Amino acid sequence: MKKYPSYLNISVEEFEKRIKDAEQILQSCRICPHQCGVNRIAGEKGLCRSTAQVMVSSYNAHFGEEPPISGIGGSGTIFFTNCTLRCVFCQNYPISQLGNGNPVSISQLSKMMLDLQKRGCHNINLVTPTHFVPQIIAALGQASKDGLSIPIVYNTSGYESLTALKLLEGIVDIYMPDAKYADNMLARKYSGAKNYFDVLKDALREMYRQIGDFKVDKNGVAISGLLVRHLVLPHNLAGTDQILPWIAQNISNKTYISLMAQYFPTFRAADYPQLSRPITRKEYQEAKSVLKQCGFENGWLQQ
Ligand code: SF4
Repeated sequence: MKKYPSYLNISVEEFEKRIKDAEQILQSCRICPHQCGVNRIAGEKGLCRSTAQVMVSSYNAHFGEEPPISGIGGSGTIFFTNCTLRCVFCQNYPISQLGNGNPVSISQLSKMMLDLQKRGCHNINLVTPTHFVPQIIAALGQASKDGLSIPIVYNTSGYESLTALKLLEGIVDIYMPDAKYADNMLARKYSGAKNYFDVLKDALREMYRQIGDFKVDKNGVAISGLLVRHLVLPHNLAGTDQILPWIAQNISNKTYISLMAQYFPTFRAADYPQLSRPITRKEYQEAKSVLKQCGFENGWLQQ
């Protein structure tokens, strides 16, 4: 019978194989769609400004995620330092853009996971994990041997390569990607990501293929599936009226959508006139109408 969480079905040999494959990828890094080709094991850095050394800013039980993710025991968040995107409005910019955090070994990362489980967290919530996927798999292999038995939430910008997602197949039970932009040029301008929407579409398809629709247990706590976050931006810069219909038509309108209204100009947003104010009530109402027109019934609204 299949065990839960999914990574408990992965043998030691399979973990070892994936760790080896992942290490090779780091030698000419193509973990994310930037495909920098730098040797991170030799200390080189690409666009994510990270060598092979894992950096973590903090880890804690977090109660502010969507209700099924936080549950009553909290979500065991691990905030990784640096990011593959360069969002000019990043609300976590001290961590993602300014490099706040400390080096941790694979064994320390594995112990953090076990500690979060011991504290009663429902899951391990990997925040901005993309550039450290190989090291996370290594830490998880160790933690799994040492008794980790809560599911993994992969909390990402949505800018994911199929290479990374294939390495995570059967390891991640809950994918929680952002869907940031429907316009590749705007994604390049505001987040330094080329082909964001094309990459996102492939990534969402692959995530959905791996884990399907979002499911909760009898207590309303997340078990598995896809949960998409969409932050509404001023002037419809996020392309809400294109992203949501695309998800409804190409993934499923049963997808859980977290429609977020909390945008505020921070970090370098003031340098970009269109991003220099919060969203209006009218803009959020329009986003909600799109959600309704697409037939989405599952998820969370903020106003
Ligand atoms: S993970 Fe970092 S170094 Fe690797 S391809 Fe992405 S941005 Fe470049």
